[in-house]
Amino acid sequence: IERTFSIIKPDAVRRNLIGKILTKFEEAGLTPIALKKIHMTRAQAEGFYAVHKERPFFGELVEQMIASPVVVQVLEGEGAILKNREIMGATNPANAAEGTIRKEFALSVGENSVHGSDAPETAAEEIKFFFSDDELV
Ligand code: ATP
Ligand code: MG
Repeated sequence: IERTFSIIKPDAVRRNLIGKILTKFEEAGLTPIALKKIHMTRAQAEGFYAVHKERPFFGELVEQMIASPVVVQVLEGEGAILKNREIMGATNPANAAEGTIRKEFALSVGENSVHGSDAPETAAEEIKFFFSDDELV
């Protein structure tokens, strides 16, 4: 059984979409084993997205992630990493498949409602970035 890390981003939390997005994960067999609402600090957002720091959209991404609260969570299930990426849909909602979270809810390529780990190594790192072992239940 696999674990992945997920964020319900500010644009979605502001529009009261937490429940609708969680329902998509749960219906696909992904179970939240840890979840909390936080307001990310600038240092957290910059650290979390450090891999993108040379990209032209980095500044805008950080501003969007700290503008208002997010939900960070650990999702568990069979093939959780890939399954989560499938449910999320393409980064740019214009390219996202029907039925995916980004197709239904994302506003733009930047404000795209969710984040999901892209590989086992990043999943492990990202879970540790926001959760301690005793929070995973
Ligand atoms: P994530 O890592 O958030 O799950 P992703 O893997 O689909 O999404 P990445 O390429 O890792 O996309 O980009 C990380 C985030 O940076 C995206 O989710 C989006 O919010 C933002 N982003 C990516 N590309 C652009 C862009 N061209 N313009 C503005 N923001 C962007
Ligand atoms: Mg990514």
